[in-house]
Amino acid sequence: MDFKPNFFKITVIIKNLILVLFLIYSCANFADINKSELINLSDLDSDFKIDLRYATENNFTKMILYKNAVPLIQKPAGLALLKVNKELKKKGFVLIIYDAYRPLYVTKQLWDIVKDTNMRFFLANPAKGSVHNRGCSVDVSLFDLKNNCVVTMPSGYDDMTYRSKTSYKSKTSRENEMRDLLINEMLKQGFLSCSLEWWHFDYKDWERYPILNLDFSEIK
Ligand SMILES: [Zn+2]
Repeated sequence: MDFKPNFFKITVIIKNLILVLFLIYSCANFADINKSELINLSDLDSDFKIDLRYATENNFTKMILYKNAVPLIQKPAGLALLKVNKELKKKGFVLIIYDAYRPLYVTKQLWDIVKDTNMRFFLANPAKGSVHNRGCSVDVSLFDLKNNCVVTMPSGYDDMTYRSKTSYKSKTSRENEMRDLLINEMLKQGFLSCSLEWWHFDYKDWERYPILNLDFSEIK
C-alpha cells in the first residue's frame, strides 16, 4: 500500500487547520482592542482645573512639548474621572489635570531630553510606548475650592525623588492625607495607582487601547 497521498492530505489538512485557528485567534484579539474615542475632559465637566504642564515651560524640561494641547482621554476613563470629580466636590475639592493623552513623539522627546538613567527610571521607554500614549493615563492633583489653590502634596508634580512615592511619609500629616484622599477616590472609580508617582494613574482597561501618535491638531 502506498500511504504517501494520505499522508500528504493529512499534512495539508493540519496546515489549513492551524491557519484557521490562527485567524480565529487574530480576529478575537482584534475584537478585544477598543476603538480609540478620545474626549476632551473640559467638555465633560468645566469644573476640572486644567494646567497642562507640557504645554508650558512650567515643567521639569523647561520646554514647551505640546502645542494646541487639550486634556484628552479615552471616553470610559473620562467618565470615571467625572465620577471622581463629583465625589471630590462633596469634600470641597476638584481634580487639577497636569497631563492626559500624550502623543508618542512627545514620549520620545522626553526620553531624548533626559539622559540621566536615574531620572529615566520615572519615564516610559518610547520603544514600548506609554499608557499616556493610549489616552488612558492622567496626571492629577487636588484643587481646594474653598481656598482657591492647589493642594500641597508630599512632593511637587514631576519631582523625581523618593518623595513622589505613594509610600513616602511626609512630616506634614495633612500632605499625606491629601495624597491618600486623591489615590482612594481614583481607585474607587477604576484607576490604578503608580507607586513611584502619586499623581499618575492608569485606567484599568488601558491594554485594550492602541498606542497613538496623533498630534492634538489632528484630533477633532
Ligand atoms: Zn503620568
